[in-house]
Amino acid sequence: MTWIDGRFEENVITTTLEQALNWGQQASVWPMTFGLACCAIEMMAVGASRYDIDRFGAGAFRATPRQADLMIVAGTVTYKMASRVRRLWEQMPDPKYVIAMGACTIGGGPYFKYGYHVVKGVDLVVPVDVYVPGCPPRPEALLEGLMRIQDKIRARKLTKGSEEVLPIPHHSGYVK
Ligand code: SF4
Repeated sequence: MTWIDGRFEENVITTTLEQALNWGQQASVWPMTFGLACCAIEMMAVGASRYDIDRFGAGAFRATPRQADLMIVAGTVTYKMASRVRRLWEQMPDPKYVIAMGACTIGGGPYFKYGYHVVKGVDLVVPVDVYVPGCPPRPEALLEGLMRIQDKIRARKLTKGSEEVLPIPHHSGYVK
């Protein structure tokens, strides 16, 4: 029996660089400060103390797309705004993620039939990772959407040329 016997099992954690990077990013998602209509009020609520998005490491809302890796599209996307949404998305560095929050963003919502000025789904403008339905969705639903983004980041494969991604749990059916 030497001093090192049994020490590894108790004290050594092994991981891969990929897992370490994914763990770091999922714990520090930075959303862009950006809201389009009433759904944005619920988004603001998750930043306040009652829902406290900081618990998930995602409370650092950035004032520039160049420092953000999550776009929460919260509200009505008008045709006038669509090109701005696209430009903001293009200015975000990779890897980046998009949550479509609310019925307007997902498919036009109450403007679907007569809203000549409203885009019928922001996924016509930018690729969407997670849809959070509701009019508006409650703050808890947005947090659920954020957790699905974190699942996606944790399952990400960084190996060059690999398109493989692990299955994402469908707790709520929100994930595309
Ligand atoms: Fe407003 Fe409802 Fe549209 Fe959200 S989904 S922006 S709450 S009308």
